[in-house]
Amino acid sequence: MIETILSDRVVQSAPSTTVGIADKVKRLREAGHEVYDFSAGRAFEHTPRYVIDAATKAMEAGDTHQTMGQGTLDYRKACARKLARENGIDADPESEIVATMGCKQGLVISLLTLLNPGDEVIVEDPCFVSYKQTIDYLGGNYVAVPLLESNDFRWKGKQLESVITDKTRAVILCTPQNPTGVVHTKEDLEEIAKVAIKHNLTVITDEPYERMTWDARRHVNLATLPGMAERTITLMSLTKSFSMGGWRIGFAHASPRKIEQMTKLQQHLITCASSFVQAGAITAFGEPPKDEVLDYWKQWEEKVAHFTTSLDKIEGLKCYTPEGGFYGWMDISKLGISSEQFCERLLEEKQVALIPGSSFGKQGENYVRVTCVKSWDEINAGLKGIREFVKDL
Ligand code: GLU
Repeated sequence: MIETILSDRVVQSAPSTTVGIADKVKRLREAGHEVYDFSAGRAFEHTPRYVIDAATKAMEAGDTHQTMGQGTLDYRKACARKLARENGIDADPESEIVATMGCKQGLVISLLTLLNPGDEVIVEDPCFVSYKQTIDYLGGNYVAVPLLESNDFRWKGKQLESVITDKTRAVILCTPQNPTGVVHTKEDLEEIAKVAIKHNLTVITDEPYERMTWDARRHVNLATLPGMAERTITLMSLTKSFSMGGWRIGFAHASPRKIEQMTKLQQHLITCASSFVQAGAITAFGEPPKDEVLDYWKQWEEKVAHFTTSLDKIEGLKCYTPEGGFYGWMDISKLGISSEQFCERLLEEKQVALIPGSSFGKQGENYVRVTCVKSWDEINAGLKGIREFVKDL
């Protein structure tokens, strides 16, 4: 028998909990089991009709060929219109935008552009489950800086600056934050900007939830702060806001020098983002969101508030209502059970799927993440299951 030699880095890495648990739910459903799924961040609603129509029309008109590696100019112009209209960012579509297959793929080319082997990247702890793994795959080292509950899940004082070394190249910042739901204020961002400027760092802002801020909160883009346009890579996508997760489409905005390198990477790694997907996405980014999309967001705000406040009322649980995005971050420390055991047993015993907080980082150990934007029936069934499970523990 031939012994295949594989990459240690890949073999030793853990699978993604978000995608992995959602895959497990799919397998269970295929086998005929009823499962209530609040695992990966996927909303109940489908992509709005007008976006599907635009993509279909493009496909039927022959837009089935590869585009420029950077993405079509029309798509990049639509992204630039969105940035000007909603974010106060003045972007040149020729040189400052590249089409990506969602924020995750945007992160890969951002890190590839910035890192030499052994360079350090600072991440929030807890943070999205794939950051650390991606940095590791690319030969970088991650440095996790705690987001403490006692600091409202924000970096305070010298926390960020104290971990900087001569190897630090970048910071990854997610706002609205996954999993805590924090929407970084202008003051939070000013503190981070100060450190980035002082130590010559690039900040990659992962912003797939930026159109979803609740209770009249406003999303602020780090790139709009003085001195930050040059040192920010802004990642956006339609995965969450337009329920377009399966389309895999987004973009990165950065300085021309960085976009030139990122485009080179797209040419080699994926050739380009899908052609008709870009055509559909033009309507979603290029024009203000239509009523049906605004209605999604309104419903999501209601669901997020209802689900998290109902969970918070369960004896033994404390659940934070997110300031933005669609995750409840639930403190289970009073239950005397690990977040992994909690999620495994809840799925086994009550068929309710959540994500263990430990997969988001050390600070996540006493928490679990709940995706709140499912159908009302699923939400109610999930609440019932969690209530009964906690009562019987
Ligand atoms: N980003 C989403 C989440 O946090 C979707 C799953 C994934 O792509 O990892 O659940």
